Amino acid sequence: MARIREKVKTRPVDALVIIGGGASGLMAALAAAEAGVRPVILERMDRVGKKILATGNGRCNLTHLSADPSRYHGADPAFTAPALSRFGVTRTLELFEKMGLETKTEENGRVFPRTDQASAVLDVLRYETARLRAEELCLSEVRTIECADGVFRISLENGHVRFASTVVLAAGGRAAPALGSNGSGFQLARGLGHSVVEPFPAIVQLKLREASLRKLKGVKIQGRLDLTAGGGSLCSESGEILFTEYGLSGPPALKCARTVNNLLSGGRGPSVTLDCFPEKSAAECLALLESRRGSLGYKSASDGLVGLVHKRLIPVLLEKAMVDRDKPWKKFSDGELKRLNACLKSWTFEVIGTRSWLDAQVTAGGVATREIVPETLESKRVPGLFFAGEIMDVDGDSGGFNLQWAWSSGRLAGGAAAARILAAAEGN
Ligand SMILES: Cc1cc2nc3c(=O)[nH]c(=O)nc-3n(C[C@H](O)[C@H](O)[C@H](O)COP(=O)(O)OP(=O)(O)OC[C@H]3O[C@@H](n4cnc5c(N)ncnc54)[C@H](O)[C@@H]3O)c2cc1C
Repeated sequence: MARIREKVKTRPVDALVIIGGGASGLMAALAAAEAGVRPVILERMDRVGKKILATGNGRCNLTHLSADPSRYHGADPAFTAPALSRFGVTRTLELFEKMGLETKTEENGRVFPRTDQASAVLDVLRYETARLRAEELCLSEVRTIECADGVFRISLENGHVRFASTVVLAAGGRAAPALGSNGSGFQLARGLGHSVVEPFPAIVQLKLREASLRKLKGVKIQGRLDLTAGGGSLCSESGEILFTEYGLSGPPALKCARTVNNLLSGGRGPSVTLDCFPEKSAAECLALLESRRGSLGYKSASDGLVGLVHKRLIPVLLEKAMVDRDKPWKKFSDGELKRLNACLKSWTFEVIGTRSWLDAQVTAGGVATREIVPETLESKRVPGLFFAGEIMDVDGDSGGFNLQWAWSSGRLAGGAAAARILAAAEGN
């Protein structure tokens, strides 16, 4: 495969430069290289794919079996349809398998490498980009891009300047800047005339106004969170919930964060209700407490809850329910049992915000999708400019959907960019 490189006047012009060596940039590089165009990847960090290593708590939840446009958000979720239908879950898994990665599907549809190692995902991608001789230039942060006469002038922070006839902008969003994506991609897109929908953190921990949080830091329970505002339920998520010194973490909390930030930016104050017994109705839970009053009546309020709820939750729950912790269960009034039951089934907290970009997993908002052709991911404003991944105004639910968007959009953008280059070469 010859690297297509032209000379315009005296300057060498790369056929294809991909800005950002994350999940979407690497996938774009593979697609272009397979089509016969060797890309140059410019990556600001000292190595590509740092974020991939951190995904899924180091296990990399690389996709979800039910990835379809309904699992994505942004101004126009249907924008994701062409990319997801051309290179969806099945083709993604076939490609990874071809590259040597065996995967396993957990019961909820989330897919992980068989070895539970995120590094295996990055390794197989890197072996393949190396085999196809894509050029990787690390410590190459792009500062500005200008486009004149169909040629992009790309200025790097290290003083170098490169020229390219086609560019894939795959610089990610603003989430987790320590892993590379510092929001500079948005500046680059704006510099080329694109609008950016104001970004905000999605998939991030919730901050609550609750005095007892310090005492609960580190407690993990299986429960359900219901997010409400103005009396209406907006989001209901079950799973492992982790108390932290500032609020709640764990998948259900992370999943509610996008809605929280949306509400807060609209001036609405949400609250979240924790159900510590989602497997039981309120009546069943009350019946359980009543039966313990009979069978464990000789125990104190505190001791009688051991074995039913996490031990560190007990003093806080009893305080909330205004029940004396030393009172024997047999002396509990029906009213006290009902108050305790209400705390266990619907413990309500005021949500005051979310953690910042530093802790966020995903960026909501980004380059306006109305300015991008969904079938190719080429800019409607700047011919020869393509977008891939989280930089666009698309964010997915937690559970593998964001990486699937990176793979699907990277594949589409890289392939379409290569097709454009090859068509132009044929036309000459
Ligand atoms: C802790 C964590 C866990 C996650 N776990 C999961 C998970 O299990 N499953 C899932 O589906 N999603 C997960 N995500 C989200 C997922 O990782 C991202 O949605 C996905 O990586 C986005 O890919 P991307 O290529 O668009 O952007 P990124 O992966 O952010 O890559 C962008 C790249 O561009 C580089 N770059 C940025 N600006 C410039 C510039 N100016 N010049 C040169 N290079 C630049 C960056 O250094 C970076 O390498 C997780 C995210 C985090 C932070």
